[in-house]
Amino acid sequence: MSQQQDGNNKPPEEEKKPKAVALLSGGLDSNLAVRMMLEQGIDIEAVAIKTPFCDFDCGKGCGQRVKEVADELGIKLKTVYFGEEYLRMLKNPKYGYGSCMNPCIDCRGMMYNAAKEHMIKTNADFVITGEVLFQRPMSQNNRALHIIEKETEMECKVLRPLSAKHLPPTDAEKIGLINRENMGDIRGRSRKGQLMLAKHFGISEPPNAAGGCLLTDPSFSMRVKDILDHCDDIPTLNDIELLKVGRHFRITHDAKFIVGRNKDENEVIKALVTDGDIIIEVKDYVGPICILRCKNYDYSLVIKCAAIAARYSDAPRHDQCEVSITVDGDKNEVIVTPADIGTIEMMRI
Ligand code: SF4
Repeated sequence: MSQQQDGNNKPPEEEKKPKAVALLSGGLDSNLAVRMMLEQGIDIEAVAIKTPFCDFDCGKGCGQRVKEVADELGIKLKTVYFGEEYLRMLKNPKYGYGSCMNPCIDCRGMMYNAAKEHMIKTNADFVITGEVLFQRPMSQNNRALHIIEKETEMECKVLRPLSAKHLPPTDAEKIGLINRENMGDIRGRSRKGQLMLAKHFGISEPPNAAGGCLLTDPSFSMRVKDILDHCDDIPTLNDIELLKVGRHFRITHDAKFIVGRNKDENEVIKALVTDGDIIIEVKDYVGPICILRCKNYDYSLVIKCAAIAARYSDAPRHDQCEVSITVDGDKNEVIVTPADIGTIEMMRI
């Protein structure tokens, strides 16, 4: 059959394909959500989020996979980095923290906003996510999903293909861009539904469930809480990177001491040294690189930290040793006896 043409002999305009923006991580769930959409003929562009605590959405360790996944799916990918604005939110999240320092509702709100921005920019019709109802206690229940949508003015604009049958119909379903019948009815923490879908899509080695971001780690969260409690405004991104390495000690309200645990950490700590940091290293013995980060320092503070540094070096426990102190490039030496481990542990974060 010949194609119908208008009076100017121009071919009729091609109907615009429905388009969605996907919040993509390197994990399985968002990958499946995208595949479900592609199967329905929806155009997809992806947004991946990087926070200071998490490489791409909630997928700990799967950050490096996200580009690979987007390529595999044949979709465009935009990466959005959250920096200081994330730390500001973390200091005082409107909806509070989960079981650790994870502000999941506010965090997802920021992610939705990034996806929304891309949706508007690319003239897409809606947003999809790999969220599964009741998979995560804080942010994936009906109330939380509703709050996040409301806060971001995205009500009925976010489709979660894996759980859609358990959720109220979105605009995309209501106006027929999506056939709700083909949507998923997965919910809860079991991975059975996802694994069946993975099989359907021929994914031979589905990745394990994502481990969550650093803010869901209890020990790391203690460090985060400590730094938030002890800074006037917000910590710097450098402060946050430093939380990821070494042993941390709260010496005074304004002074923190960080001690490398091995050669690799020593290198990272060295790379994170910033203006005003005091570098402390034991001389003549193998030992850690340490940073004293504080507003004001005095001799007794430096001596205390030098003794801690000595305790974690190969210097004999009961003999005095020499420790070098570098302030703004100026090097000096002090003599200390390694600190007692019981005293040190009381300051450990
Ligand atoms: S676990 Fe919570 S805080 Fe961490 S990235 Fe996911 S939603 Fe954000």
